[in-house]
Amino acid sequence: MTYEDFLRFNQISVVFEPLPYSIKGFCRKKGEWIVIVLNARCDLAEQRRALDHELAHALNGHLDMYDYEECESAVAFQSGQRKKKG
Ligand SMILES: [Zn+2]
Repeated sequence: MTYEDFLRFNQISVVFEPLPYSIKGFCRKKGEWIVIVLNARCDLAEQRRALDHELAHALNGHLDMYDYEECESAVAFQSGQRKKKG
């Protein structure tokens, strides 16, 4: 399965938009699909990190949850990263 297939299988699409520099990326629902928006102004390394982070939210069903802190700590725990916003 290619990466594109993986995303399609999970009903995830990735788009790039010029966002303020403080935002690396975020995800939102669009019908049955999850759209991951990455900051077009960030460099490739930052975009990859942001994509990993947002994918963790998407694949864990966090878009249907409303406890921001709980979502962030779940993602931070999984990725072994320090807790950060986004
Ligand atoms: Zn996050």
